[in-house]
Amino acid sequence: MSDDMNELDTPTFRLAVAQFDQAAERMNLDPNLRQRLKLPERSLIVSVPVRMDDGTVKVFMGYRVQHDSSRGPSKGGIRYHPDVNLGEVAALAMWMTWKCALAGLPYGGAKGGVRVAPKELSRGELQRLTRRYAADILPVIGPDKDVPAPDVGTNSQVMAWIMDTYSQQVGFAVPGVVTGKPLSIGGSLGREEATGRGVVYVTLEAMRHLSLDIDKASVVIQGFGNVGSHTARIMRESGIRVIAVSDASGGLYNAKGLDIPELLRRCNQDGQPLHDTKLGDWITNEELLALDCTVLVPAALSEQITHKNANKVRCRVLAEGANGPTTLEADQVLTDKGIFIIPDILANSGGVIVSYFEWVQDAQRFFWKAKDIQDRLQEIITAAFHRTLQFSMAQQATMRMAALMSGIDKVAQAHLARGLFP
Ligand code: GLU
Repeated sequence: MSDDMNELDTPTFRLAVAQFDQAAERMNLDPNLRQRLKLPERSLIVSVPVRMDDGTVKVFMGYRVQHDSSRGPSKGGIRYHPDVNLGEVAALAMWMTWKCALAGLPYGGAKGGVRVAPKELSRGELQRLTRRYAADILPVIGPDKDVPAPDVGTNSQVMAWIMDTYSQQVGFAVPGVVTGKPLSIGGSLGREEATGRGVVYVTLEAMRHLSLDIDKASVVIQGFGNVGSHTARIMRESGIRVIAVSDASGGLYNAKGLDIPELLRRCNQDGQPLHDTKLGDWITNEELLALDCTVLVPAALSEQITHKNANKVRCRVLAEGANGPTTLEADQVLTDKGIFIIPDILANSGGVIVSYFEWVQDAQRFFWKAKDIQDRLQEIITAAFHRTLQFSMAQQATMRMAALMSGIDKVAQAHLARGLFP
């Protein structure tokens, strides 16, 4: 890694750059562009002071990184997590650029985050933190500039506070400044479940391509947050047995298939921890990743499948619901084992695809039906899957390489067409 990357140099950023380098090498990318696209356009670091309920003031580190804006406003979520750092946010921003380009959305990539454990804050503290962070990044966001959305640890309420903070500043309601908002202020039907629904659509396509029988298939999901829980529900509704799910404390396993509706009722409505539901046997996260299954969906954090556990993974299809769940070494091990990988920038693109629908609806002040959203999501993500599959077969490249090369190529073409300023 060159010296100019020191500030960003973390394991996750190194993973994103290593993937980019592999793809750039293979596609013989223009060396000038290669250097440009390795680094984000703009990285903003803010320190966010928050009055806590006990009267003291705590300061949290916040970030917003815009990787590329050659094809349109930059787009990407905001993450609240105790491990958030500049390098991680920069890596996630780079992945957003390739993800948007691959799906054909008119966006560049961005990401934001605050280093905080949101569950430890009261609702009032969370609101004050969000509003101050929003005020601090306000100069760089906007519906035509950079459009945040939910990610790990944030939700529609957090987006509503950001929308309100921005709107208060400019003096009128600006719904299009964020996506993933509540319906009452210009959110879209189907946005919350969109990433999970997209994971299911591409998984079904992969199973069809590999001639795998849905009736006999089993799915294991790591993570039971927004992506994991909707993936579990929609897999079940599509007739696929979900045999294990997990959260940060461990996993629940039932070989006959978990009762997902009951699990969702207890966890989401009654607030029961996964462990207390007793709807299956309790297993460790390591055991969960090593379960014999048709489809494994990592839907939690990055770097979960590594050189340490990759050889134990026993799925036929890996559908990456999370961003960056597989390290470079692990990727090679899984590929050698013949596992069909649906890479993150394709598998989890349903979220940003429906974010795009939300932004378009906000701009037009005209809202679509749930069926329109689902049909258009399916059309876009399925087309992206098949384009990637064709390209991977034509180039004899893995699905990950094919997805990265397609995304990078679209961004490269935009840079070459626009030229370098000044
Ligand atoms: N945070 C999501 C992602 O990683 C969604 C981003 C968005 O909708 O802008 O893709």
